[in-house]
Amino acid sequence: MTDYKAPLMFIAGEWTRGSGQPTEVINPATEEILSSLPRATADDLDRALASAQKGFERWRSMSAEARCDIVMKGCRILRERADEIAPRITLEQGKPVGEAKLEIIRAASIVEWDVNEGRRAYGTIVPSDPGFNRFGLRLPIGPVAAFTPWNFPISSPGRKIGAALGAGCSVVIKGSEETPASVVALVECLLEGGLPADVINLVFGEPAMVSSHLIASPIIRAITFTGSIPVGKHLAQQAAAYMKPAVMELGGHSPVIVFDDVDPAVVAKQGVAGKFRNAGQICTAPTRFIVQDKVHDAFVDSFVTAAKALRVGNGLEEGVQMGPLANPRRLQALEGFVADAVAKGAKVAAGGNRIGNRGYFFEPTVLTDIPEDADVINLEPFGPIAPVIRFSDFEEAIAIANRLPYGLCSYAFTSSQARSYELAHRVESGIMSLNHYGTSQADTPFGGVKESGYGREGGYETLDAFMITKFISQKVS
Ligand code: NAD
Repeated sequence: MTDYKAPLMFIAGEWTRGSGQPTEVINPATEEILSSLPRATADDLDRALASAQKGFERWRSMSAEARCDIVMKGCRILRERADEIAPRITLEQGKPVGEAKLEIIRAASIVEWDVNEGRRAYGTIVPSDPGFNRFGLRLPIGPVAAFTPWNFPISSPGRKIGAALGAGCSVVIKGSEETPASVVALVECLLEGGLPADVINLVFGEPAMVSSHLIASPIIRAITFTGSIPVGKHLAQQAAAYMKPAVMELGGHSPVIVFDDVDPAVVAKQGVAGKFRNAGQICTAPTRFIVQDKVHDAFVDSFVTAAKALRVGNGLEEGVQMGPLANPRRLQALEGFVADAVAKGAKVAAGGNRIGNRGYFFEPTVLTDIPEDADVINLEPFGPIAPVIRFSDFEEAIAIANRLPYGLCSYAFTSSQARSYELAHRVESGIMSLNHYGTSQADTPFGGVKESGYGREGGYETLDAFMITKFISQKVS
């Protein structure tokens, strides 16, 4: 039996139960209670805020190199513990343990990249009149409030913590209450690597209470959130009310345009691996398969065969390729998407149902012949469901891809260079993968357009949201 360590909050340099009413952490594969989870009260949050203020003064006054050395040590510890932490992620989130391990390595790689970017946070020297120096200094903005979801319970906190620390900021992070042990493991490793205690505070609680309290505090100078569009809009409005900059990494509904000049069987087989990873609960997941007439049926055949062959089960079991959904809300949502599409005339080519009645398992599902008003091709499905849509010409494909208010990620498969060029310029998304299903790494920019949010994580822009440029003009004579 894998051990599941009861998660605590880290406030003002101490692991604590806080004073709020605890909640429960549930294993989505068995529906058993894994642990109780402490929740913060307003007083606990005020202690975290005061600590973050202290931590900021300390962290900003260290050299970028010293900060980097400390955080890199924490990341080494995280990499070394990947085998020990991965099953805990599976227990609370459901993904297969191999995927959980990859997520841990990804978290380490993201934090490493971000903190090293802190050493390259160059300012500018502006040509000056004689007797003057003029330059733009890049300085940390101040304590950051971060809010992270349950689908990537360790790499999403890695994005937020890495960028804040790399910029020289302290951070108060609210991890997901449904997957708390993952973010606890990350914070433990960073502290063991030597991160000064007040530089990081970790809380859990009632999400709306915690976010409104932190965002309103004058101590907090920037906000970063990953999650759904409705919650993102709400938090962005709160941030605006206090004139605080925010990074919003929200949902998507990624189109995958498959032209008839590629092998549909290859694209379908790779698509199954991309679609059903993390049971489809990924904001960049390939989601609307838009396939050209001539290869549509062959694509569906191959996709269905590969989807049906997936082994679904408890992510702790050897050989399982897809775990349960992370919570009962997703199960209800998926059942609703299928029922709505079928009622409107769609065909179920594979799956469509819950598996068993214990654990939140759902069949890898493929839908075809879907009318344009079906929810599944208009609202983010965030689950193991692949709608396939037909198109005949290039302009129609672009119109379908750009039809929705989402704009996070997109994919296209074609052997034409000219078409690839057009697609890269015209599909509305912050990320696009051509002829493969991979997306962003630590060293590339990640973020959306339209309602999928704003700001970028990763790449050379990763620190931008957490730094200010201060113009200095110095008379030297
Ligand atoms: P939700 O909208 O209630 O919550 C989404 C996330 O935001 C959760 O982690 C939740 O704890 C957090 N949250 C909710 N209210 C908050 C608040 N006031 N302040 C701070 N954090 C808050 O929905 P859900 O049922 O947890 O997830 C369902 C939807 O969320 C999915 O359909 C998907 O669109 C979206 N989602 C997106 C991502 C992503 O990576 N962009 C991650 C998780 C969920």
